[in-house]
This record gives sequence, structure tokens and C-alpha cells, in this order.
Amino acid sequence: MKIICIGRNYINHAKELNNPVPKEPVFFMKPDTALLPKSNPFVYPSFSKDVHYEVEIVIKINRLGKHIEEKFAHKYYNEIGIGVDFTARDVQQQCKEKGLPWEKAKAFDGSAPTSSFVSINDYEDINNLNFSIHINGETRQTGNTKNMIFTINQLIAYVSQFVTLKIGDLIYTGTPEGVGSIQINDKVECFIEKKKLLQFNVK
Ligand code: ZN
Repeated sequence: MKIICIGRNYINHAKELNNPVPKEPVFFMKPDTALLPKSNPFVYPSFSKDVHYEVEIVIKINRLGKHIEEKFAHKYYNEIGIGVDFTARDVQQQCKEKGLPWEKAKAFDGSAPTSSFVSINDYEDINNLNFSIHINGETRQTGNTKNMIFTINQLIAYVSQFVTLKIGDLIYTGTPEGVGSIQINDKVECFIEKKKLLQFNVK
């Protein structure tokens, strides 16, 4: 499986990193080794001094598809979850300055802790979902899927023009504003609406 991550899908997050608001989706990938096995801690990578959390709604693909039309995209998933797109912001900044790819800042081992998945039928409208990350019991970042620049279905249509989607692939749908640093010993919890779906510690 592969993990496809959308960048800059919330206007206020693009602004906080001084990025232009995109006219089409930006995406990059993480390998399956970026998943964090359940109940494992996230190990703070030694190559960074500024690892940021980015909390994101995650879609799990349940059908093989390429060149999926937006109007059919809803047939390609029936479960959602929540995840953290960990980013070595200092390393990413160096890559950006040199015009180099971001992989080492984004795709490292354990950089994609992902919750278990729940049926989209549990929610009235997945395009109006509140989600959040709490660190040491304090709310640090909140978002609502209604503020996405590109909807989930638009993202599936866009990405599948370039990359075949396979069963089990994950799409991280982008982070809202409010990203920030994590520290060793932090306790991380992620919620969709009031339901906690993901919890781990930083070591
Ligand atoms: Zn992200």
C-alpha cells in the first residue's frame, strides 16, 4: 500500500507557512514504513530539531481505480480515520530552499501514525467534520473538513489521473492551520468530533 498526502489543502495553513494558495492539489507520498504500529511510541528522529504535527483526516481506498471521475469518487472509499503527518520542518525548509524533494522531511519511519478506521455512515456529512489534536491534554490544532480547498472527491479524481489507487491505500487530506512542534514525552491524542481514535506517546 501507499500513503498519498495532500499539501496546502486549507487556505489558512498555506498562509501560515507563507505558501501560495494552490490552483490544483499538491501531493506527495510516504511509504508503508511511515505507518506507526499500534501501541508503539513515535520515536523523535535524530536528524531533526523541529518536528511538527499536522493533524489530518485520512481516507482509506477500497477499490482499484485510475482516472476516477469526481462524480464516482465516493464509490472508492467507505471508511475514514485520522492521522498525523509528522514533518521535520527544519529539514523540509532546507529542501525547499535548495529546490529539492521533501521526502526525508516527510517520509521517514513512523511519520504517519494513523488511527483505526470508522464507517463514513457514522457521520452525517463527512464534508463538515470537526477534528483535532490534543497534546498533553491541551487542544493544539482543530479543523473542519468544510474548509478544504479541494474536497475529498476532487482529491481522488485529481490524484488518480497520475497514480492508480489500490485497495488499502490511504489519502491524508491535508492539515488546517495551527501546526506546531512536538517534544519528547508528549502524549498525543486525535479526535474526529468527540471521538478519540488515535493515541500515542513521543519518545
Ligand atoms: Zn500534511
